[in-house]
Amino acid sequence: MNDAPTQTYLKPSDAKSWALCARRVWLDNKGMPDIEIPEDAFEALIIELGLGHEQAVLTELKKEKNVHTATSPEDTQRLMAEGVDVIYQAQLLDKENRFVGYPDFLIRHDSGEYQPADAKLSLSEDKKEIQVQLGFYRRILNVNLPAIVFLGDGKTAEIGDEANPITNQFVTEMRELLASDTEPLVRYSHSKCRACPYYAHCKPAFEAKEEISLLYGVQGRAVDELEKQGIQTISDLAASTPESLPDVPYLKGYEKKQRAILQAQSYFSGEVHIITPVNLPDGQWVHFDIEDNPLTGTGEKHVYLWGFLVPDFSNADFEYVWTDTDQQDEQGWLEFLAQIEEYRARYTDLVLAHYSQHERSTIRSYAKRYGMEGNETVQYLFGNESPLFDMQKPVLESLVLPLQGYGLKDICKHKDLVNFQWEDDSSGSQWSVVQFNRFLAEDNPEEKAQLKAKILSYNRDDVIATRRLEEWLRAKFMT
Ligand code: SF4
Repeated sequence: MNDAPTQTYLKPSDAKSWALCARRVWLDNKGMPDIEIPEDAFEALIIELGLGHEQAVLTELKKEKNVHTATSPEDTQRLMAEGVDVIYQAQLLDKENRFVGYPDFLIRHDSGEYQPADAKLSLSEDKKEIQVQLGFYRRILNVNLPAIVFLGDGKTAEIGDEANPITNQFVTEMRELLASDTEPLVRYSHSKCRACPYYAHCKPAFEAKEEISLLYGVQGRAVDELEKQGIQTISDLAASTPESLPDVPYLKGYEKKQRAILQAQSYFSGEVHIITPVNLPDGQWVHFDIEDNPLTGTGEKHVYLWGFLVPDFSNADFEYVWTDTDQQDEQGWLEFLAQIEEYRARYTDLVLAHYSQHERSTIRSYAKRYGMEGNETVQYLFGNESPLFDMQKPVLESLVLPLQGYGLKDICKHKDLVNFQWEDDSSGSQWSVVQFNRFLAEDNPEEKAQLKAKILSYNRDDVIATRRLEEWLRAKFMT
C-alpha cells in the first residue's frame, strides 16, 4: 500500500486483539522491539486455511462477475469510480479520521454503491471482531447497505446497523489506547494470557505485583472490588479468613471465599488443600480421550481419533478408532459405538474415565448429528447407569492445588503433583489439530504414517495421564 501509515491509523484488523485484551492490542501497535513473539503453528494453520477460503470465494465470484484487483487506495477509488463489479483486495483510506481498512472484496450493488465483504473461516458472523471489522468498513465507505460475510461453511451472512455500537466503541477505545504511551493496566486471565504471544512479557510483572487475578477461580471483577476494600495482593488474601473477607461480586459466600484464600495460601506454599474427601467410583476403568478437528469447513467437528487405555494400562494397552478424513466421520462414530459395546461385554462394571466435559458433550453432539439419540449404546452412555466419569469433577470439588489452571496437563505435568510428562513436550490439543491437518495435506505415504504415529502417541499419553491421575488421587486422597 502506498501511503497509508498503519501505526497511528485505526485498522479493523486490530479488532481481534482488542476483543481479547486492551494491553495486547496496545502492544501490537506500539511494536515493542524487545518482545520476542513465539511462532504459533496453530495460528499459521488458521491463516493458511483462511487464505484458501478467500481464494475459493474469489473463484466463485469470478464465475459470475468481473473482478479487478486493487493495488492502492487511489486505485481502489479509481475502480469504484469506474463502477467495476468486484474489487478484490480493496484498500480504504480515510485520512481525516485516520482510518485504514482492507476488505477482501468490494461488491457493487444494483444501486451503484459498494458493499464491503470478507471471507471468514468462522461459522458465525456474531463474533465481536467480525462485527467490528465489517462495521468499520461500512463506516469508512459511509454506506447504508449491509456488509457481507462469506462464512467458513459456505453460507453468506450480512452485517448492518446492528454492528454500529460495537464499532463505535472500538473506535473510541482504540483512540484512547493509541494516544497513551503507557501499557494499559489489565487483569491476568489464565485462558487468554496462556495463549497470548505476550505471555512471557506480562507474566513476570503480574507475579512481581502479586496480582490476585493470577489465582485460579478469582475473576478480575472480584479483584477490582477486593482492591477497593484494601486487599491488594495475594499475600493480603492469603492472610484473610472467610469471615473477614467482604462479600464482593463473584466472590460471595463462605465456600467461595475459603477456596480463594486456600488458593492464595497454596500459591506460596505449594501445598494441596483437601476440601472434601475424593470419591472415585469402583469398577473396571477404561481411560478415554478424543482428538477432533474443528477446521473441517462444514461447521461440524470431525473426531479423527477416539482413544482408550484398557487394563493393564501399559503403552501396549492403548486401543483406538481412527478415521483418515471427515468423509469417514459416520464410520468412525459407528466404530466408536461398537468399541463401547465390546468394553461393555468385556468389563462387567465399566467406568469410562475422561477429563472434562468435552468427551461427553462430543458424544451427545454425534448422537444428534446422526439421529441416534435413541440408539441402545447411546442410551447406555447417558442413562442412569452411565459408565462415563469426568475425573475433573472430583478434582475441582475436593482439592485446591498450587496451580493457575486445572487442566489435565496443568495437574499431570506438575513435578510435585502427578508428575507425568508427555513424550512430546510440545504436544497439545491445538498441536494435534495442526498435525492432523498436515496429515490431510500430505501425499507421501511414509510422511503420512509418521504424522499419524505422532498423533497416536500424543493421544496415548493423554489417556496414560488420566490413568496416572487416577492412581495419584487414590494413593494420596483416598483411604
Ligand atoms: S499476556 Fe495477558 S495481559 Fe498480557 S497482553 Fe496477553 S492477554 Fe493481555
